[in-house]
Amino acid sequence: MRAAYRENVNPKDELRDFLTTRRGKITPERAGLPVYGGNRRVTGLRREEVAMLAGISVEYYTRLERGNVGEVSDSVLEGVAHALQLDEAERDHLVHLVQTLATRRPPRRTPTRTRVRPTVQRILDALPTPAYVRNGRMDLLAANAVGHALYAPVYDSSVHGRSAPNSARFVFLDPAAQDFFPTWPKISDDAVAFLRAEAGRDPYDPQLQDLIGELSTRSERFRQRWAAHDVRYHRAGTKRLHHPLVGDLELDFEAFDLAADEGLRLNVYTAAPDTPPPRPSPCWRAGPPPRPPSRRDAMQFLESNGTVAAPREIFTGDVWFDVLANVAGEDRLRVNMVRFSPGARTAWHTHPLGQTLHVTEGLAVVATRDAVEIVRPGQSLWCPEGEEHWHGAVSDRFMQHLAMWEGDGVVWGDKVTDDEYAAALATPNA
Ligand code: MN
Repeated sequence: MRAAYRENVNPKDELRDFLTTRRGKITPERAGLPVYGGNRRVTGLRREEVAMLAGISVEYYTRLERGNVGEVSDSVLEGVAHALQLDEAERDHLVHLVQTLATRRPPRRTPTRTRVRPTVQRILDALPTPAYVRNGRMDLLAANAVGHALYAPVYDSSVHGRSAPNSARFVFLDPAAQDFFPTWPKISDDAVAFLRAEAGRDPYDPQLQDLIGELSTRSERFRQRWAAHDVRYHRAGTKRLHHPLVGDLELDFEAFDLAADEGLRLNVYTAAPDTPPPRPSPCWRAGPPPRPPSRRDAMQFLESNGTVAAPREIFTGDVWFDVLANVAGEDRLRVNMVRFSPGARTAWHTHPLGQTLHVTEGLAVVATRDAVEIVRPGQSLWCPEGEEHWHGAVSDRFMQHLAMWEGDGVVWGDKVTDDEYAAALATPNA
């Protein structure tokens, strides 16, 4: 498959096909040329028309299209780019192809990076919004926790095999991509155009060639779009995602080139300030604003009394907790660290003044009578006063959360049956 691809990106063919397809996109009217008669054989511009608009001879333009020119001056390239009304990505692509042909031998190239430096990872981790770093092949090299969670369908996809998670491979080879990206046709076009630009910039990257060969062989869509010879930059905009856990998201993104690591790009996603949360759970929706603590509520951290097994009458499975803090007084505040073994859960219960759960490890399932939430490490969930709910670990992971609530008198109800637990995990949101 690599040989077939190498044939495809022979720089001469590439330059010819690129210029021919650009010519085909521009009508004489758009180029401001008079149209004589009604029987042109071509819809786009003729070579002689491009040459005239670029201010060069037809012979020279024809040799350029055939890749037989060697060094080409900037002013000629500028003239051709102007005549063909190339955008920035197309102009750069033209320059890269001509340079490759002029040098005749592969440039010394630094290998494409496959990991990020520790500083870059720290920056990712410090960002409060989803962010990841990718290289020119669209390999996802690093992400922060929320970026990883946002792109979970890409990371979890089986199409990568032993290779690095790769957005393009996910887009073209995993049917789940069409659910994850509601604008999949555009997303897939952008991915092809991005890889095409990258192949022009770095025509001797064997792993990029392998990826393009793999996608050409296995995806009809990729093959078709690749033949269009489009190139595009994708540096800022809005992306719509349908996340399997969170639901529909619309996020603005910005791309930042890492100046010290050529070819690496940091992509950061943010939601516009007036964007409502995607799908608020009943627990969040009914939450009151937190009350400021009164002077009397000064918290006392307890000496640890050791880890305590949670009572079997109330909890299913193995559950342990440590009391971290409580505050004596009328409004008693409790903070417990609670650990659930896989499949373990509380009974149904209510808190007289509500409860905050903050998950620190594993995946928590929190269910009310009509909703189920999966809560990930770093996320918090507010369960309002009197709302009946239960919480626990998913079936194949330990889970740990901080539990914080005010007021005495949790009201415990029935244990959560295996059927109720299985049904909760089977709901579309879980
Ligand atoms: Mn609770």
